[in-house]
Amino acid sequence: MIPQQFEYSSPSTMKEALALLSDGSAKVLAGGMSLIPLMKLRLAAPEHVVDMGRIPGLDTIRQAADGIHIGAMTTHYQIESSPVLRAHCPLLAETASHIGDVQVRNMGTIGGSVAHCDPAADYPAALFALEAQIRLASKGGARTLSIDDFLVDTFTTALEPGEIVTEVIVPVESSGTGVSYQKLHQLASGFAMVGAAVRIARANGGIGFVRVGITGLASKAYRAANVELVLQSTGDVDKAAAVVADGVEANSDLNASAHYRSHMARVYTARALKIALARAS
Ligand SMILES: Cc1cc2nc3c(=O)[nH]c(=O)nc-3n(C[C@H](O)[C@H](O)[C@H](O)COP(=O)(O)OP(=O)(O)OC[C@H]3O[C@@H](n4cnc5c(N)ncnc54)[C@H](O)[C@@H]3O)c2cc1C
Repeated sequence: MIPQQFEYSSPSTMKEALALLSDGSAKVLAGGMSLIPLMKLRLAAPEHVVDMGRIPGLDTIRQAADGIHIGAMTTHYQIESSPVLRAHCPLLAETASHIGDVQVRNMGTIGGSVAHCDPAADYPAALFALEAQIRLASKGGARTLSIDDFLVDTFTTALEPGEIVTEVIVPVESSGTGVSYQKLHQLASGFAMVGAAVRIARANGGIGFVRVGITGLASKAYRAANVELVLQSTGDVDKAAAVVADGVEANSDLNASAHYRSHMARVYTARALKIALARAS
């Protein structure tokens, strides 16, 4: 199918883009990997599309004192292959390498992925484990939200009309931290039926630090603080992974029942914990 007719703008500055978006009626176009199919199916019919692709500087990865700043238009492939991220935030680079196929990774962007807020998207698991910050801008100014405050529910974020994602900020990983992203993927699309992202640091023969993010299981990705607590108090990976779906309303759809998803969440969380532990020094 072809999309409904729409106006197309391709601004070359952020100021121009924010002015075009300011009345809240236009839609941002990033990699187009989610928006264009929705428009073709006429599940989305924006009257005005603002393409961010000509604005310089939105696809940079920059290390600063407060972390690594990743521009919203940075593609999954740029993240997967970035020497800065591979060295200092390997969990995000590893997660990007699991997204879709090579064409999707060449076009899709991190800003588009978090703004779209698909409950089966890969990045949110890593972004919860990394306690990432999302930087937003509008004609009225800028603000920064935690990933938890930004992702509200299925396909719903805290973006206000006229507001865009400009950056995702992740921490510089301490050396010796072990990380892993493990995912059960839907065979046709590659999306996560469940995905578990883990960061672990050892201390005094035990667990010094652990963060776990889960995607695909529920209506929204989340940080599995209960898994972290059990692992830190018992050091037992299987006991920790066993609680990952406790208190969670698991998704049930054509691909997997809630029962199967919950079971696979336990399996993939245990796998991610074991690999991250083996990689921690
Ligand atoms: C075949 C296929 C397989 C895929 N498999 C996976 C997978 O395995 N894992 C996974 O995580 N994803 C997967 N995806 C989704 C892919 O990662 C997309 O890149 C992503 O969901 C959207 O990014 P985009 O840059 O293409 O955004 P677009 O499609 O351009 O935009 C998506 C939405 O976000 C809004 N938006 C975009 N950028 C911004 C911004 N900076 N500020 C505010 N709003 C913005 C748009 O208005 C639109 O509503 C797949 C997609 C396809 C087509």
